[in-house]
Amino acid sequence: MIEKFIRDVPDFPKPGIVFKDITPLLQSEEGLRHTIERLAEVVDPDSYDLVCGIESRGFIFGTALARHVDKGFIPIRKPGKLPWKTAAESYELEYGTDTIEIHTDACEGRRVLMVDDLLATGGTMQAGLKLVRRVGGEPVACAFVLELGFLPGREKLGAIPVHALLRVE
Ligand code: AMP
Repeated sequence: MIEKFIRDVPDFPKPGIVFKDITPLLQSEEGLRHTIERLAEVVDPDSYDLVCGIESRGFIFGTALARHVDKGFIPIRKPGKLPWKTAAESYELEYGTDTIEIHTDACEGRRVLMVDDLLATGGTMQAGLKLVRRVGGEPVACAFVLELGFLPGREKLGAIPVHALLRVE
């Protein structure tokens, strides 16, 4: 079901990358409903208090899921976007580094479900997990719409349960 709504775009944003375009999935009422319902099933909503989404496609699925299961949502953003006090974490990219930030008062003492659209190398989610823990939250699981099965992303995330609705090779 999800697979038929994922469009492969070769050489985007640079040569050699096959970009997994989720916009056809969002555009489809059936695809979007199915995706959010599945995300609500793979991790028991009673096991978390808040949904955390990573900019920017994690916001789309994370907020829709949070609303669906009647929870609040917290954003992890690119640097300089969050207006209050922040904690920051940098992580390695293929060339160079990237940084993400969270508000320091986002989730202290709360159980958090981490959401992003896609798990590739795992660097982004690994940094997200560190941030939530640093500000006193407890990540209980990670949920992705897609996982690139040919990359060892999962191994980077440690012992936390990792769920992907679709694994592509
Ligand atoms: P990573 O940190 O390598 O796990 O990369 C995850 C982040 O990069 C996610 O937020 C994805 O949206 C994005 N991303 C990485 N690779 C792709 C890809 N092939 N297609 C679409 N998005 C990707």
